[in-house]
Amino acid sequence: MSEKYKTPRTTELEFGGLLGAVCLPVILPLTVLYLLLAVRTFDGGILNFPPPLPSLPELWCPTSFLFVVGWVALQALLYLLPLGKITQGMVLRDGSRLSYPINAFHALLITSGLVFCCVLAGLPLGYIYDYIIPLAVSAGLLALCLSFFLYVKSLCAPQSALAPGGNTGNHFYDFFIGHELNPRFNSFDLKYFCELRPGLIGWVVINLAMLMKETELRGSPSLAMILVNVFQLLYVVDALWNEEAVLTTMDIVQDGFGFMLAFGDLTWVPFTYSLQAHFLVRHPQELTMFSAFGIISLNVLGYLIFRCANSEKNLFRRDPTHPNIAGLETIPTATGKRLLVSGWWGFVRHPNYLGDLIMALAWSLPCGFSHVLPYFYVIYFAVLLVHREARDEHQCLKKYGLAWQQYCQRVPYRIIPYIY
Ligand code: NDP
Repeated sequence: MSEKYKTPRTTELEFGGLLGAVCLPVILPLTVLYLLLAVRTFDGGILNFPPPLPSLPELWCPTSFLFVVGWVALQALLYLLPLGKITQGMVLRDGSRLSYPINAFHALLITSGLVFCCVLAGLPLGYIYDYIIPLAVSAGLLALCLSFFLYVKSLCAPQSALAPGGNTGNHFYDFFIGHELNPRFNSFDLKYFCELRPGLIGWVVINLAMLMKETELRGSPSLAMILVNVFQLLYVVDALWNEEAVLTTMDIVQDGFGFMLAFGDLTWVPFTYSLQAHFLVRHPQELTMFSAFGIISLNVLGYLIFRCANSEKNLFRRDPTHPNIAGLETIPTATGKRLLVSGWWGFVRHPNYLGDLIMALAWSLPCGFSHVLPYFYVIYFAVLLVHREARDEHQCLKKYGLAWQQYCQRVPYRIIPYIY
């Protein structure tokens, strides 16, 4: 491999640098455990510290581990099925492009069929509620093993295959942030596979299990539980239907595959994003039709902003001459790419984050106002998106320089108009 494709050493550290890289792999799993323990207590209080600590058999059970491994293996099998089209990713540093299968939506449909058959056959899906803690511990363990494997694999990878942000030479940091950009076995892309499938499809299955548990306990699912399930299902269906769009995201283009993404995809997303449904099993809520209508309207608003903004940019990046975006104003950059300065991307600099945040709020509101816990997602997500936005702006400023500064002048607000 020619020297010119070598990945330069990373000098700018993110996520709290070395301290973050050492502490976060401990703090994040403990946070998941804490939230799961707190949501199951009678009062569901987030400030009751420490929550009742589980015994070892409540934390770990080999069947749960096998279940998690079986789940990931099933999704890997579905990834390999010759369904859907094959598409090309973004151009890599050496000028090449990788191929990716676009069949996550097929995977969701087949998984839904399998889950439906299991339920018809009398398999008690509500068991997932009973075993959620050993399942989360198993998923965390699997993510940790995968991260070690990825790091060892990355040490044998060619220099050109390393992630620009994860090549410090410090073992802790590179292990945490991800050393190799696109670790693969032949055509099986590990990061792309984990990004959407096991975690997102797992999230909707956990939500459904919570709905089944509520039905088992109280005879029928509540309106609040149905809303949370439908909203989050819509979000996952949207992500899988638009799978190709993930190929232009920071996670795929810029970030390596290490502990942060592996743990996020396999453990954090399915077990913390399902907290609202989990909460409703123990803390039923009465929703009036009027408040349900308000919450549905909020979710629709958030979804429309999120989808229109993402589609506008994806279309613009894939085909800037497409007639659907012909009237939009753009500014040129020195790289040859242009930046949108009207339409959604002229409203705020990250309209897709704004839509996502509005939806996050709509997912928590069905849980009422008695507890903070179901609002964990929207609070955490606001922090994540503010941080992500800052990271993205930093990269865009490096990429586009003066053009980015002009864009910031034209579109002064980052996420929320007139506020932030
Ligand atoms: P974005 O989709 O927002 O992409 C940012 C990139 O878009 C920039 O790096 C730049 O890349 C391009 N861009 C920025 N401004 C403009 C402009 N004015 N005109 C044209 N291109 C522009 O990044 P993310 O990957 O962070 O988010 C993708 C989606 O995923 C979002 O909807 C987000 O809300 C969601 N998300 C959800 C998470 C969850 O856990 N639920 C977690 C993280 C994200 P370039 O110029 O190189 O094309």
